[in-house]
Amino acid sequence: MEKRVGRRLVLFPLPVQGHINPMLELAHLLYSKGFSITIIQSDFNSLNPSKYPNFTFHSLFYGFSLADLKVEDFPSLAILFNNRIKNPFKECLAKLVRDASESEEPIACLISDALYYFTQSVANSLQLPRIALRTGGSSSTLAYVAFPSLKEKGYLPTPGSQFDVEEAVAEVPPLRVKDLPLINTKHPDKFYEVICNLVNETMVSSGVIFNTFEELESLALAKLRQQFSIPIFSIGPFHKYFPSGSGSSNSLVTPDETCIPWLDKQEPKSVVYVSFGSLAALAEIEMLEIAWGLANSNHPFLWVVRPGMIGGSEWLEGLPSGFVENLGGRGHIVKWAPQPQVLAHPAVGAFWTHCGWNSTVESICEGVPMICMPRFTDQLVNARYVSHVWKIGLQLEKGSERGEIERTIRKLLEENEGKEIRERSSSLKEKAKLCLKQGGSSYHSLEALVAHILSLESIYV
Ligand code: UDP
Repeated sequence: MEKRVGRRLVLFPLPVQGHINPMLELAHLLYSKGFSITIIQSDFNSLNPSKYPNFTFHSLFYGFSLADLKVEDFPSLAILFNNRIKNPFKECLAKLVRDASESEEPIACLISDALYYFTQSVANSLQLPRIALRTGGSSSTLAYVAFPSLKEKGYLPTPGSQFDVEEAVAEVPPLRVKDLPLINTKHPDKFYEVICNLVNETMVSSGVIFNTFEELESLALAKLRQQFSIPIFSIGPFHKYFPSGSGSSNSLVTPDETCIPWLDKQEPKSVVYVSFGSLAALAEIEMLEIAWGLANSNHPFLWVVRPGMIGGSEWLEGLPSGFVENLGGRGHIVKWAPQPQVLAHPAVGAFWTHCGWNSTVESICEGVPMICMPRFTDQLVNARYVSHVWKIGLQLEKGSERGEIERTIRKLLEENEGKEIRERSSSLKEKAKLCLKQGGSSYHSLEALVAHILSLESIYV
């Protein structure tokens, strides 16, 4: 632990798992660099402050919950978040700034999720610098930056237009039309508004932090640096700074640890770990295709099925009766897994993922090859990079179709192509490790971030 620097940071995560994890990991990291940490959180999906004795928490009343969230409502929800909580957030932050100015520990800056774009004007009004945390990768962010030109060229859909097109998009190589970070929504105009706000308000912030590393996304980071006049810090992978890998310790749901003794009984690199993150939903027919694809592959599998993720089912009712029992112990299904520990387990040979950025980075850090089934937004970009740039996974081009699933699992775990993918995954894992060590790219970038934060506050305090 480095000495305390006498400066406080206020962190403001978006209240969904894939955004909470990196923000809390960043909080631990900056605490270890001597900053005091205050976290403003929502009154739902909230963390238990008693688990974080080093941090101070404040809760905001949102007046709505995510219980009825449908993924396609995401644009409306993002706008709601940004409009509805502006005033309570401003009051809370203003009080924190006031109290801190009378203390020995002034606030150096606000670090808020890039999707909370409204926080930029609030920070400006309080003369507080804001740094954005972009919880997605820099390659997908680059595609978001290109949205105005993609719109001009007619690539952005209007309601009902065709997504599933293979044509390459020259503006954002190596993406095809079907890889653009879009979402199937009735409100594409609102989605466009959210993304443009995210980009524009990040560009006028005092800096942006990415949970990535130079060796992984050097080209995208270089292009972003050309377009953004603010400093860009690539200091990931966040969860690997701490020996235990803090990943699932920020879980909103208690992970089912029974999967670890089950994994202990499996052969090395034989298991397919299947998880589509915290938000993605599946239709019942997709669940059946997945189940039969897994069963027919003849490989053991560990599958995370969140309650309610299958349309029309509470949990596993959509599976044929006796499905798991008839596999003779070859399949294990849980409601939530300790994912970082699962990916680090020697029995895991492949990760079938929706390619959320956290899952992608966690898999890279353990050298686990991926089977990609992206659902929406940046996942589509991440999947393209996994399969065609880093070449550490295979994409299911037909979505969930049992024949393709079975063939892809076998290709990855049994064939030469899979062996080559595994070798590339191992070599990327080494790079992910080295970048955090003294002299590594993320190590340097973190030092630069700390120096930047300390220089920022002197402008205002
Ligand atoms: N996760 C987990 N257990 C699970 C499924 C997911 O701990 O059973 C964690 C995973 O490790 C990752 C996060 O939830 O850190 C999901 O974030 P990601 O960006 O991959 O996807 P999202 O949920 O945002 O779609």
